[in-house]
Amino acid sequence: MLGAQYQGKKKIELIELPKPVPKENEVLIKVKYAGICGSDLEAYKTGLYPAHVVLGHEFCGTIAEMGQNVKKWKIGDRVTVFPSLHCGKCYYCKQGLTNLCVYEDSIGIGANGGFADYVLVKDHHLVALPDSIPDKHGTVFDQIATGLLALRESNFIAGSSAVVLGLGTMGQFVLQCLKIAGARTIVVVEKNVHRLEIAKKFEPDIAMSKLTLPKIKRSNKRGVSGVDFVFECSGVPILVNAALDVVRKGGTIVQIGLWDKPLEINLLKYVMNQNHIMGVYAYLREDFEFAVDLVARKLINPEPIVTKIIPLSEIVQEGFECGISPETKDIKILVEP
Ligand SMILES: [Zn+2]
Ligand SMILES: [Zn+2]
Repeated sequence: MLGAQYQGKKKIELIELPKPVPKENEVLIKVKYAGICGSDLEAYKTGLYPAHVVLGHEFCGTIAEMGQNVKKWKIGDRVTVFPSLHCGKCYYCKQGLTNLCVYEDSIGIGANGGFADYVLVKDHHLVALPDSIPDKHGTVFDQIATGLLALRESNFIAGSSAVVLGLGTMGQFVLQCLKIAGARTIVVVEKNVHRLEIAKKFEPDIAMSKLTLPKIKRSNKRGVSGVDFVFECSGVPILVNAALDVVRKGGTIVQIGLWDKPLEINLLKYVMNQNHIMGVYAYLREDFEFAVDLVARKLINPEPIVTKIIPLSEIVQEGFECGISPETKDIKILVEP
């Protein structure tokens, strides 16, 4: 079978790999689509992940073969995968915080993933894909789940105002999660006009391509200056600092975007304004299953966000190179092996 193997910074190669054979509780999935995640792009740019692995942790497909101990599933079932490879034994796993597992790993990062004809997984990773979700939308639950975790961990409450900085896949889904959660005012900021136009389909109150701090600060309808919540989804240093400028006193900054270098921020404001700054990483299985449920019930709409489907053979140029270009017209690119 063919697979796109990640070999480090800016290096992905299509190679012939042996087709895995499922044993015991293992299942072989024939991949239909696999999405390129923002974290995959980050790994491609920086060399963040260990080399010699087939990436792709967002994928769907059908069960092609099963080990003898797999009972709950049958050949041909449409499935997606909760990709976390947490240990289940450490301090965090025992508290249900599997996203913080000390041995934290994932299918498509530390083990071969979806940018290949087939993927081998243990059956407990499988999540059924409901009939109401087309294959094309069967890969997007990762970022929706992270958005749901971000709302829960930040104690977001209905009636609050929020700004979303950066409208890649993550920001687009945080915007939709905020709509469901009852945000009173939502401001979105993204300098890529293609992405901004797509976000307008989800009806934010204010969409801006240029960061205009006074306008954001005035958007809080509670009569105070600054928004209640900032969801920083870009990882762009200037926006990280802008977050401190636009959050209200006592407000919360949720950092979701990743960056690879340390950066300078003005923590004096943060102290004097009693702000909360928190990081959010990945998601739990319950968030992933809730994300599937929200798409199945049409409460979250991935359609405008999946902008391109490419064959596996074009994954480098049309996938990764296109994905990291600042002028890209794409948001979520799917690979079809
Ligand atoms: Zn992802
Ligand atoms: Zn663990």
